[in-house]
Amino acid sequence: MVHAKPYRDLNGWLKERFGCKVFKVSLSAGTTCPNIDGTLATGGCTFCNDASYAPRTGPRREKPIREQLAEGIAYLRKRHKSPKFIAYFQSFTSTYGDREVLLDKFRAGLDHPDVVGLALSTRPDCLNAGWAKDLNDLGKVCWIEIGLQTANDATLKKINRAHTSRQFAEAVKMWKQNSAIPICAHVIVGLPGETKEEVLTTARFLADLPIDAVKIHNLHVVKGTQLAQEYLTGGYQPLTLEEYVDWTIGFLELTPPQYIIHRVNAHAPRHLTLAPDWSVNKLAVFNAVEKEMEQRDTRQGKNYYQVIC
Ligand code: SF4
Repeated sequence: MVHAKPYRDLNGWLKERFGCKVFKVSLSAGTTCPNIDGTLATGGCTFCNDASYAPRTGPRREKPIREQLAEGIAYLRKRHKSPKFIAYFQSFTSTYGDREVLLDKFRAGLDHPDVVGLALSTRPDCLNAGWAKDLNDLGKVCWIEIGLQTANDATLKKINRAHTSRQFAEAVKMWKQNSAIPICAHVIVGLPGETKEEVLTTARFLADLPIDAVKIHNLHVVKGTQLAQEYLTGGYQPLTLEEYVDWTIGFLELTPPQYIIHRVNAHAPRHLTLAPDWSVNKLAVFNAVEKEMEQRDTRQGKNYYQVIC
């Protein structure tokens, strides 16, 4: 199939699969994270502030799932006239907690005539064969998003991820053995101290794994985080938009053409964002990546070569 875009984007995939435009409704299962509550670490990843993921309808942690869903759908309907939705459990670590309690919440997320599927975001160390089987049995789980951020273990340590790239690879392998639900890897471009070459190494690392999709984020500095402290004291310098676009294109060129690209940008609300300024305009970032790819006459997978032994 010919894709008009220089990469295989999520919207196109959703349209192929469901026959119409599908929007994600961001929900919270009320979970926390082992990287915050002291189980693995405290303080969380240095860039993390859950408030920055909250939908425009406001904080929703304490609200019942059906209420969150109704509010999110009403908001998106008004704004985008979208006919169908994915219940997207994005907040913190969605598989961290009692499995039966969380599965009930996920079922509630599917309990709406216009919700076509579910998506979850989590950490590699919060998945096991039980989760793989139960979510598979739930049906309608369109993908599971697993945070990697970078394949560089020194950076993972620096940003306090409290897992390694090897743990990520093992989680992917375990998932593929136990579930048919597609895997989306979450990566960040512009992490403290990382060079373009390190970002490309992460792309090659993911190209060698049996995943199905990648979500690429620019790193933005959100108030109230450790990264904000580093930025304010001169210890972290965000990428320029030009650098971000160049590095992201390099990443996409090394990404297998069949992988679905969920995003090529991220943003937090303006009042929470310290830097970079360009990150608050998500459409401009997205457009800049596409325009530059067109100008360079390049595409996803252009530099991807599979080594078959
Ligand atoms: S693993 Fe996710 S939820 Fe936990 S601290 Fe890191 S970014 Fe935040």
